[in-house]
Amino acid sequence: MARPGVAAIRAALSCIDETELIELTRDLIRIPSVVRPGDPTSTEAAVARQVEAWLVKQGFDLEVQEVAPGRPNVVAWLGARGDGRSLLLEGHTDVVTEGDPAEWSYPPFAAELVDGRIYGRGAADMKSGLAAMMVAAAAIKRSGVALGGRLVLGALVDEEGDMLGVKHFCTTAIGRELDAAIICEPEQNELCLEQRGVVWARIAIRGRMAHGAMPEAGVNPITALGALLQELPALERRLRRLCRRSRHLRPPTVTPTVVAAPAQGVEQSNVIPSRARALLDIRLTSGPDESAVAREIDAACRQAMARCPGSTVEWKPVSGFRMATRVERNEPLVRAMVAAVRRATGRRAIFGGVPGSTDGTILRMQLGIPIVTCGPGTRRIAHQRDEYVEVTELADAAKIYVVSALNFLQV
Ligand SMILES: [Zn+2]
Repeated sequence: MARPGVAAIRAALSCIDETELIELTRDLIRIPSVVRPGDPTSTEAAVARQVEAWLVKQGFDLEVQEVAPGRPNVVAWLGARGDGRSLLLEGHTDVVTEGDPAEWSYPPFAAELVDGRIYGRGAADMKSGLAAMMVAAAAIKRSGVALGGRLVLGALVDEEGDMLGVKHFCTTAIGRELDAAIICEPEQNELCLEQRGVVWARIAIRGRMAHGAMPEAGVNPITALGALLQELPALERRLRRLCRRSRHLRPPTVTPTVVAAPAQGVEQSNVIPSRARALLDIRLTSGPDESAVAREIDAACRQAMARCPGSTVEWKPVSGFRMATRVERNEPLVRAMVAAVRRATGRRAIFGGVPGSTDGTILRMQLGIPIVTCGPGTRRIAHQRDEYVEVTELADAAKIYVVSALNFLQV
């Protein structure tokens, strides 16, 4: 891979304005973007407008993609793909709930800067990553360095929900032309080449209603539910055998997160209900395909039915299969980023893994492109109270993105 000249890298890095980066991050945190279903004013729209206005001011070409009412993706780009490559810097504009503001040491949407840390909901996940990728692209633009391909910025909606933003983006022309993506999620600037996958299995159990004093007259779905719960350790073991071991990720886990019976209607002490339900949170590492995972869940359901004659135990994935992703170290994007971390921070790249799924999961599954997850913010602080980002990590991220883009797109 031809490397861009030292002069080009130096020129682009010198165009990063750290004060501007900090203030942009704080501005984005101050615009709450918790999505509250049923409240049309609580969406990503205001943050998307801010992102759009900032990028327009920098002179970027962009398009706003209305994914759902009041839920726009903002997609900007620099350079033309031509015979070169197209690289995406990806971030999401939604944040999770702040919970009880009284539990925070600093107000969740005040973006207070204290001792080198910016506090607030989204400080790590991921207004900081979003700001870092915007400032990185602006620095390249301001430096006048000509890219040998196209750099795309995607500020997408609904990552914390059903990932509608990235699913839509994958169907657009600019999305389909991508060759690789950097997911700017909080991974303490480690290079994460693997992400765990997830399947949420919605279990529906049917029995037959009867009097509690005459259980022999009915089929108790709670018995089948109990049998299913007993099958879960075996299911977990089978999935662990199917999935690849990883140095950076915990092995597969099967965790029941909801159980309910009766599944609907009135609770009564002397009535065996006709239905029960459960949700399983199943995390995976790479290896098996969707049908192999589905076969194992099917088997657990069959075992539960066998132990409760007359019942039916069925399942469906809640929002499809989000399979684990993995890219190899010899991918051009990985090589570009390893060199970039050293150049931008003076340190060797640290490899890591993403414990959950991200928009990158969808990009990898739908477009088949290599993705690397790397962004500012401590991995564990996401979704917690007193969420923060270290300003030094934020600045490092912007530098890593600049050099990665120049390396990958070959000036
Ligand atoms: Zn996130």
